[in-house]
Amino acid sequence: MGGNEQKFVQEAFDTNWVAPLGPNVNNFEKAIENYVDENVHVAALSSGTAGLHLALELLGVGFGDEVLCQSFTFSASANPIKYLGATPIFVDSESDTWNLSPELLEKAIKERLAQGKRPKAIIAVHLYGMPYKVTEITEISKKYQIPIVEDSAEALGSSYKGIKCGSFGDIGVFSFNGNKIITTSGGGALVSKNEEHKKKAVFLATQARDDAPHYQHSHVGYNYRMSNVLAGIGRGQMEVLDDRVAARRFNHDFYKEHLTENSNIEFLNEPSGYYSNRWLTCILTPSFEVREKIRLALLDEDIESRPLWKPMHLQPIFKDCANYTDGTSEDLFNRGLCLPSGSNLEEEDLHRIVALIKNVI
Ligand SMILES: *Cc1c(COP(=O)(O)O)cnc(C)c1O
Repeated sequence: MGGNEQKFVQEAFDTNWVAPLGPNVNNFEKAIENYVDENVHVAALSSGTAGLHLALELLGVGFGDEVLCQSFTFSASANPIKYLGATPIFVDSESDTWNLSPELLEKAIKERLAQGKRPKAIIAVHLYGMPYKVTEITEISKKYQIPIVEDSAEALGSSYKGIKCGSFGDIGVFSFNGNKIITTSGGGALVSKNEEHKKKAVFLATQARDDAPHYQHSHVGYNYRMSNVLAGIGRGQMEVLDDRVAARRFNHDFYKEHLTENSNIEFLNEPSGYYSNRWLTCILTPSFEVREKIRLALLDEDIESRPLWKPMHLQPIFKDCANYTDGTSEDLFNRGLCLPSGSNLEEEDLHRIVALIKNVI
């Protein structure tokens, strides 16, 4: 926490705005809008997953539709497709950013179109905070007129060619879950340049109540709005977001500086124009065996590290879904490891972790 979170939470109590609406919600949304892009409209929600669910619904995804989704991601990117009774089609990553491969995406679209199925949306993810190939992916989206849901859950504070992530898709989504770069303990946001998207998202997120004196409903609604208490935490967190990004980038640079010399450990570099918040620092080891040796050596010292996300096309729940893959994300999963990356790590901690890894390699 940065310090002012409790002040804003206290304000919610003092003014009795203990509800899923109130001044903290409005001001938190404004703070995100000011940070990301003056042209975006933000709806604060109960989670990033809720944001992805609403984004797909706003783009017209429904029963029986197909949605293209980056395979190399956390399951919350794909689960909302299933909530709507639609079918995910998984697409592999490229090795420059570890995100959606433009070539495989276009191949998938062409093949689905040839089979008479027009995918309703593309879910592209800025994984670990690294922006996806925004120019190439946006071009494909425009060419085939398939809208993008930009899963920016891990990428608040990242940018591409000087423009902040969250503002590239037809609809963008942030997460403020406890593990993200800033947090409201649990929370999320939907972002769009189209004000109608925000209005509809808020409408659906507050039980879709029609304009009538009694309770009348002509849509199925959800209870997805953010609490005014938690939005108070969010306001305080926005004040320290840039510090958190700096701390995460420091972790990454420290690991890279100490682990690349005379080793076969690789890091994910920022291509020119890309700026990652370095939410998590990830390394690529030469093999699954080396990765496991490092992970277990750290675990022996009570230090948690984790394999990279297991691709969705390899997950038991999605095993029957079509996929357009070339082994890239499977290889990343086998050889990759997320190192301890908290914003509160001390240099002493980093030295200790580096020494243990060096001992293995
Ligand atoms: C965390 C995360 C989500 C889900 O956000 P929640 O706020 O936890 O629901 C979605 N996509 C990705 C890539 C994430 O890392």
